[in-house]
Amino acid sequence: MGPSTDDPKVLDKLIDAGLDVARINCSHGDPDEHSVRVARIRDRARAYGREVAILVDLQGPKIRIERFKNKRITLNEGEKFTLDAGLGVHDGDQSRVGIAYKELVHDVKRGDTLILDDGRIVLWVEAVSGTCIDCRVITGGPLSDKKGINRQGGGLSAPALTEKDREDIKMAAAIQADYVAISFPRTAADVEEARSLLRAAGGHGSLVAKIERAEALTCLEDIIAASDAVMIARGDLGVEIGDAELPAVQKHIVRVARDMNRIVITATQMMESMIENPIPTRAEVFDVANAVLDGTDAVMLSAETATGKHPAKAVAAMARICVEAEKQRSARVSDHRINTRFQRVDETIAMASMYTANHLGVSAIAALTESGSTPLWMSRISSSIPIYALTSHVETQRRVTLFRGVYPVAFEFPKHDHNGVIKKAVDELVRQGAAHDGDLVIITKGDEFGVMGGTNTMKIVRVGDPIDSPTL
Ligand code: PGA
Ligand code: MN
Repeated sequence: MGPSTDDPKVLDKLIDAGLDVARINCSHGDPDEHSVRVARIRDRARAYGREVAILVDLQGPKIRIERFKNKRITLNEGEKFTLDAGLGVHDGDQSRVGIAYKELVHDVKRGDTLILDDGRIVLWVEAVSGTCIDCRVITGGPLSDKKGINRQGGGLSAPALTEKDREDIKMAAAIQADYVAISFPRTAADVEEARSLLRAAGGHGSLVAKIERAEALTCLEDIIAASDAVMIARGDLGVEIGDAELPAVQKHIVRVARDMNRIVITATQMMESMIENPIPTRAEVFDVANAVLDGTDAVMLSAETATGKHPAKAVAAMARICVEAEKQRSARVSDHRINTRFQRVDETIAMASMYTANHLGVSAIAALTESGSTPLWMSRISSSIPIYALTSHVETQRRVTLFRGVYPVAFEFPKHDHNGVIKKAVDELVRQGAAHDGDLVIITKGDEFGVMGGTNTMKIVRVGDPIDSPTL
């Protein structure tokens, strides 16, 4: 979200086009702007009878240059240019610019390659002395205030959670963010620390680890285990590991995360040309579709909607491509965890339901859920069968919007009346247009209502048949 999406009419178009989760980027704007934005999103979602989750994305230790006296310069190949930690924040000129992160001088050495502005400018480090990193320009071009700096190969020491992030975590708790994304985590400990800060502040949100440092790939499984979701942050990650490595890494992260029952977001430059243009390039169409075929839960837009000229068209194009890609056979078959042992009864019911759904052929699945765990397990199995998360908890309704193929439904049910609950769930699937008379559907639930982790029953029902009679 950003200036281009603030008009409620634009927001309506985004929701209408299929927006499930809105990202609030803490790199821009202040807490007041964020809470106004969040209130507006929730207001419009409510008007549509939809749930839209809020993802608060922490800025993290993004290392940036300071400002120029005249806002921008142009660097030419072969020139000398110095990053100077001792220079005033507004004093940059053609020969040097300040850096916000003073430790950078200790992190780099002669022979390193520094990449500015997501790869547009490349500098080679000739010498480091005192507060100065003296560089030679390898790739020149315009350079303006506050652009990011990455070191090729990673290895910068900055801790993941800055003072600003700690404040923003409190903001995320106050606005009841559904997801909080940690930028540049190096280890699982960074995610765990963010989680305890969020809980201490009273926040219930799930944690997203953005994979955007070379080091994060060396302990990927630990980071994923510590997180609820991961974001393939292709912008910064591509700078650190090289763009050519990205496609294989994307496929690897998606596979590992799904195997570990975690959610995956694929992010950055998916519809980049739509910042200016009303239609995507063919390459962008393929990128979105391929991410869906890889098994991603979500595809993300950044500047395309936040500051772009056609925010609603970008969402609509993405939605159209996702829906079509999901019809591909390879997006519907699964051998996920077929050889593994299950740990829990509710997990087993989720797996059994999907095995049944895929092999018997059912129109829809309704999972009565408290925390959303059952639909999460179900959605790790590829199928084209919609999974409806029926829950009375608004937090769960919002959280599951990020799960692939899962749709939230607000659901209150008659307690102690098991047949009544099943009937109401089937009616809901019909009302959603997901099932019709004569279709088979699956309902999962627990014997005791309102108990987390209590799912122990799967029922196959033919729509229209009396609920308490055999269905096959
Ligand atoms: P950002 O993260 O948009 O916050 O930089 C995503 C990325 O690096 O790709
Ligand atoms: Mn990033």
